[in-house]
Amino acid sequence: MPHKNLKQTGFDEMNLSPDVFAVLQTVGYEIPTPIQTLTIPRMIECKDLLGQARTGTGKTAAFALPLLSRINLENKRPQVLVVTPTRELAIQVAQSFNDYGAKMKGLNVLAVYGGQSYSVQLNQLKRGAHVIVGTPGRLMDHMRRKTLCLADLTGLVLDEADEMLQMGFIDDVEWILSQIPQPTQIALFSATMPAPIQKIAGKYLKNPEKVIIRQESDVTNTIHQKFLMVKNINKSDALVRILEASFHDGVIVFTRTRNDTMTLTKILEEKGFKTEALNGEIAQAARERTVNRLKNGSIDILVATDVAARGLDVDRISHVINYDMPSKIDPYIHRIGRTGRAGRTGEAILFVQPKEKWMLKQIEKATLRKIEEIALPSNREINEKRMDDFKNKIYQTIGTEDLCVFTDLVESTAKEQDISISQVAAALAKMLQGNTPFLPETMAHKSAAKKKGTKAEIKAKSPVAPKQKQTPARLTPNKIAPTEKGMERYRIEVGHKHGLKPGDVVGAISNESGLESKFIGAINIDYDYSLVDLPFGMPKNIFNLLKMTWVKSQKMSISKYAC
Ligand code: AMP
Repeated sequence: MPHKNLKQTGFDEMNLSPDVFAVLQTVGYEIPTPIQTLTIPRMIECKDLLGQARTGTGKTAAFALPLLSRINLENKRPQVLVVTPTRELAIQVAQSFNDYGAKMKGLNVLAVYGGQSYSVQLNQLKRGAHVIVGTPGRLMDHMRRKTLCLADLTGLVLDEADEMLQMGFIDDVEWILSQIPQPTQIALFSATMPAPIQKIAGKYLKNPEKVIIRQESDVTNTIHQKFLMVKNINKSDALVRILEASFHDGVIVFTRTRNDTMTLTKILEEKGFKTEALNGEIAQAARERTVNRLKNGSIDILVATDVAARGLDVDRISHVINYDMPSKIDPYIHRIGRTGRAGRTGEAILFVQPKEKWMLKQIEKATLRKIEEIALPSNREINEKRMDDFKNKIYQTIGTEDLCVFTDLVESTAKEQDISISQVAAALAKMLQGNTPFLPETMAHKSAAKKKGTKAEIKAKSPVAPKQKQTPARLTPNKIAPTEKGMERYRIEVGHKHGLKPGDVVGAISNESGLESKFIGAINIDYDYSLVDLPFGMPKNIFNLLKMTWVKSQKMSISKYAC
């Protein structure tokens, strides 16, 4: 986490106790983070501190290392108290104290929080603890019952004070502050500094040093983070839908276990995605081959565990999907950092089960970003994407292949049988697709119903049927129903080739003319123009307005349609 204008001080210059300093090698911290550089020397000097920093900045070590450094292990009474808003954070912070104090023989750290039995906590408190980490309500209870004695306290930390304010604990916090012995060093950490927090700081902190850390994580700047609330049993369906509906390039899906990488790979393969698994069980050479296949586009999706994807550097990763919630912030940051590489932007989608909401909050804090909630893609979105993909394939083929022979063939087929080019094209598409439904049933049925009569029409024009009068295929209006009573038909010069959809026509007309969409009648989109039915007797000024209206970057150039 680079921090501009900050003189780099090493841990060795910070007067940490030998036991605490020694542990840093074990946990692998080589360089202090900015908040540690600014906080540790001040806390070692027993100064009060007001820190504006979020989770993920290394804040826990910033207060735990100096506080642990001055603990007297002989004294079994609490010397350090940390107040946290939630039990999860209390457990996490207590664990960090245990980790950083791993070389301090006999160190006892205790987490006390609501929801845990009093008798268990009482026994633990009786045995004695050097460090207590707890939530305000339960701490207050123990203090009132005199089961928690803070007479020997030397350091108090209020962690995530703004959260405590938001959760309505601020009076409890103030009560705790009013009960602690003097002098106790106080460090208050908060991501934001709303007025009530500043008031408490002004009242209880003595000439506090102010430390502000803005974490500008390069990683999260280029990555659009989203989350989807989803129950465990619906996750694989949700994944398939998201993959179907998104315009993705390479994708990494993160799962918790090796088994899940295999199961999910199978599911995705069955759905037609080019997928492979990457986990610790796969031999190194095979792993390299898989990564190369992802790089060169032979596969698009990698289902991986954290360990297997460590350091993976593939530019074409457009999406990271956190199928299983990571257990900590670090792996999350690492996972999402697999996308948004080489100057590109990326998308990270996190699956959140209802019970994992608290972790989502932790991640938002750590990445300094609000994570946007998304909904499961609907059938309609998936269908639209399938149709877009289908069209793109056609455009690509037109752009890259020599189609002369086929063009002649299609034209002569249409001419001979007096059928439209679109009917020939539809038949070819059907031949290509086989019996697998192109669109999920609902939509396919709807479009079949909409086109009722078309089949009969084709039959009538089948090779055995007598030939009918020929009309140019693209302009064939014969399948369009007559105008309803009270309506007139108009032509606009925008069509399929411009990517026009009925919704675009409705939107443009109702926005410009003020005509409610329910009054807009049948819309028929053809290749380069469309027909739309509107109420009889359109006022001239509206007609002129619509002539000038643009849709899909084209002027509508509306005109009365004379069939
Ligand atoms: P925190 O803000 O306390 O939740 O810490 C965020 C993460 O940074 C934790 O996973 C720590 O293990 C890690 N961390 C803290 N300090 C350092 C450091 N100096 N070097 C490397 N990692 C660190």
